[in-house]
Amino acid sequence: MINDKLINTLPADVVTRLSLAGVDIGLIQQAKIQVNTNLSKLITKIFGSAATTFGYTIYADGSSISFYSIYGLGLIAHELIHIDQWKQEGLFYLIKYIGEFLKYGLISIIKRIKRENLPPHWVHDQISYEKQAIAHEENVQKALRRALNG
Ligand SMILES: [Zn+2]
Repeated sequence: MINDKLINTLPADVVTRLSLAGVDIGLIQQAKIQVNTNLSKLITKIFGSAATTFGYTIYADGSSISFYSIYGLGLIAHELIHIDQWKQEGLFYLIKYIGEFLKYGLISIIKRIKRENLPPHWVHDQISYEKQAIAHEENVQKALRRALNG
């Protein structure tokens, strides 16, 4: 069962850190987050990820991410890009995402038949929407490291 009480906005200090690292504050404020609800545990297990976003809600596995680590903040920044993609393109985003997932899934099968070595998460990382989210995640992590190093 879904516990609606656990659907929250991000904590204020996390919002501050993200906005200082260059994340769009409007996007942060629109995001909903579920951490360690039965639904978020199920979704992260199915997708084998620390966080997955559908629509405006980020489903996160609190046992594998902390909002107070550079990794965790980068991941939230990554997921916020998926919220923006959904906001900008709606159903087209979802259809194109699934299309690219299937296309690269097929290519990965062919590559494996040809005995080519592929890094883990290769299919996921080829998807254009993921490339955009990964680039943002890396920029935010760089900004957070710079801030820590003074
Ligand atoms: Zn992603």
